[in-house]
Amino acid sequence: MQIVVLAGGIGGAKFLAGVRAVARESGSGVTAVVNVGDDVTLHGLRICPDLDSVMYTLGGAADPERGWGRQGETWTVKEELAAYGAEPAWFGLGDRDIATHLVRTRMLDAGYPLSAVTEALCARWQPGVRLLPATDDRVETHVVVETEEGQRAIHFQEWWVRHRAALPAKRFVFVGAEASKPAAGVLEALSAADVVLVAPSNPVVSVAPILAVGGIREALTAPVVGISPIIGGAPVRGMADKCLAAVQTECSAAGVGNLYGARSTGGLLDGWLVDTTDAGVTIPGVTVRSHDLWMRDERSTAEIVRAALEVARA
Ligand code: GDP
Ligand code: CA
Repeated sequence: MQIVVLAGGIGGAKFLAGVRAVARESGSGVTAVVNVGDDVTLHGLRICPDLDSVMYTLGGAADPERGWGRQGETWTVKEELAAYGAEPAWFGLGDRDIATHLVRTRMLDAGYPLSAVTEALCARWQPGVRLLPATDDRVETHVVVETEEGQRAIHFQEWWVRHRAALPAKRFVFVGAEASKPAAGVLEALSAADVVLVAPSNPVVSVAPILAVGGIREALTAPVVGISPIIGGAPVRGMADKCLAAVQTECSAAGVGNLYGARSTGGLLDGWLVDTTDAGVTIPGVTVRSHDLWMRDERSTAEIVRAALEVARA
């Protein structure tokens, strides 16, 4: 079986560990199509937070407490940059992590597409699934916020990391998405897929920018099953509630399910997996099932994946 997963960073990475475990048992192939909307250039370095979260997590090198960046990280370069007053000082750039960004930036500058760079980085980390950026083109999520001087668009990272999503967001703009094309390998993976799983990632700033890449939505011909990132009306971690508010969507399993919508009405989903506390949720035209959706460890996450594959068969 061929499984494609649409994934953001931390939630996507945890979910993919479970997908990998299930795929190993059944001899299935897994391709992760990962959001690039969070990508940013800082201090001359190209940084891809979601690709790196997935790569480090599946490579066994992620910091388990923070959930992002490298285990055993040190922060000398960040401190030295701050001592120069070099802005932006609010972004966490670890010393080990910087080596990844240096290799990536050098390869991109030499003309390699991001998909090839990601493959090269993964030669070290051996994530056990194929990691593809949604696009090799530049697509960046910007957030339109209200300030004293009126409306202004800022990079997603500035809103998320610097302002902790506290500035009320008016809307999100995926700059470059309209002209973008899927990265090398994405359309092939989607056309070979037996099932597409939408990880319990942030629907507004992780999954939506993937779907905004030209041609990806149209290529979703296999059954699509989503897993809710919202349990009992709250995100499990992070600030998805702030993002959902900006798109006038209730922070609930039903709200996100309806935001994605049924394939039969031009939406995304054939199936929607919600937590047992949200059992009874209905989305018109979508097969909804409930299961314990807490990704405590690889085993419990693998159970979620099995339940999602059951929904795809139903
Ligand atoms: P980011 O790019 O690092 O923000 O990560 P993602 O977008 O991939 O995932 C963030 C989402 O993962 C949040 O909205 C969380 O609610 C969700 N999440 C994290 N842990 C769990 C979990 O154990 N179960 C479920 N269902 N969702 C989770
Ligand atoms: Ca992200």
